[in-house]
Amino acid sequence: MNCPIHGKDVDTAWVPCFTGCDEGYFDEYEDDPINNDPGDMSVCEECRGNGGFVVCAACNLDNPDAEF
Ligand SMILES: [Zn+2]
Ligand SMILES: [Zn+2]
Repeated sequence: MNCPIHGKDVDTAWVPCFTGCDEGYFDEYEDDPINNDPGDMSVCEECRGNGGFVVCAACNLDNPDAEF
């Protein structure tokens, strides 16, 4: 990845998505069984189905959510 502060080819860390999605998806049926069918899933708009974000490790040393 490319960090605007630390430049190219930095060490990376992983930050789980902050929306509370399940691996990048929301279970629509669980949230609203009236209007959705079992198995209806929607992609999380924040992480776009990734379940989290690849971030610059150096920028996130103090981030308690980051996984190194
Ligand atoms: Zn997400
Ligand atoms: Zn950085």
